[in-house]
Amino acid sequence: MDDRSLVGRGGSGGSIDRWTGASAGRSSRPGPGTGTVDGMNDDSAITVRGLRKSYGAHAAVDGLDLVVPRGEVFSLLGPNGAGKTTTIEILEGYRRRDGGDVRVLGVDPSAGDSDWRSRLGIVLQSTGEFEELTVAEVVDHFAHYYPSPDDAGAVIERVGLTEKRRARAKTLSGGQQRRLDVALGIIGRPELLFLDEPTTGFDPVARREFWELVRDLAKSGTTIMLTTHYLDEAEALADRVAVIAGGQLVEVATPDMLGGRHRAQATVSWRGPDGPLTVATDTPSALVCELTAQFAGEVPELLVSRPTLEDTYLRMIGEGSR
Ligand code: ATP
Repeated sequence: MDDRSLVGRGGSGGSIDRWTGASAGRSSRPGPGTGTVDGMNDDSAITVRGLRKSYGAHAAVDGLDLVVPRGEVFSLLGPNGAGKTTTIEILEGYRRRDGGDVRVLGVDPSAGDSDWRSRLGIVLQSTGEFEELTVAEVVDHFAHYYPSPDDAGAVIERVGLTEKRRARAKTLSGGQQRRLDVALGIIGRPELLFLDEPTTGFDPVARREFWELVRDLAKSGTTIMLTTHYLDEAEALADRVAVIAGGQLVEVATPDMLGGRHRAQATVSWRGPDGPLTVATDTPSALVCELTAQFAGEVPELLVSRPTLEDTYLRMIGEGSR
């Protein structure tokens, strides 16, 4: 069984380990506690040095280095099979690593105990375990696993499910179910929240509302590790993004600097007398002034744009795969 499938399981009562699968991937190594350990900076929420994980002969993660300071929204990007899930599962303590050093909230995840787990929030795809319970009952149930949970009603409100609080989980739409997943991820007031493809199935309005929730959590100091294939989502939310491919880091940067994006030429397009025209330029303002003079006023269909994060990402991944 995949270790992660344990998440969300477990009945009433018992410890947090019962539903987080805390024993999975544990080693006998003692937890490092706090302070600087082995030259690693424990002020960071996440520190990864030389992480390696292979499945048979295949190196899924191949010497990865990452540092995520506390309070940052950090997004992990990469094509299918890049090693994102493997990395995240190692950080969450669900998968053993083959090599390298990892600290999450100052603790080696392979030795993370239930106290450490209670400081993490993990939003996974729905397990469908609690279908017969109402939204309020599920959130309340999960609250009992944490030492100082948030108020269940407030969390339900925060994810926009107040109107559905008495609805059975099985009657929720896909997007509403995802909101419930998020509620379960934040009910324990986590210091570090893992969001794995959080807005899959959300309508555009729900996505924007969810982004506000993430910004709100970030403002209150929660560190967020976001895995997403939506580049606009990473651009909207992340302080920094890391692109990984083939289990290796391609680049880590702020969304506006990734791949030299801030130095990229602007594209100016407009409708000329003979049809649409497009020019790539380092000096778009000068060109627009020139065009304004030429047209003696409004330039028809004028558009000035720079490469989006998605354009840049596609170029980087394309170059890497050539
Ligand atoms: P996606 O975006 O598709 O979710 P990912 O970046 O999360 O991809 P991983 O799931 O970490 O990628 O997979 C990295 C590589 O490791 C892939 O080649 C995958 O086939 C392989 N892999 C992942 N889990 C296992 C496993 N349990 N057994 C064997 N190979 C695995």
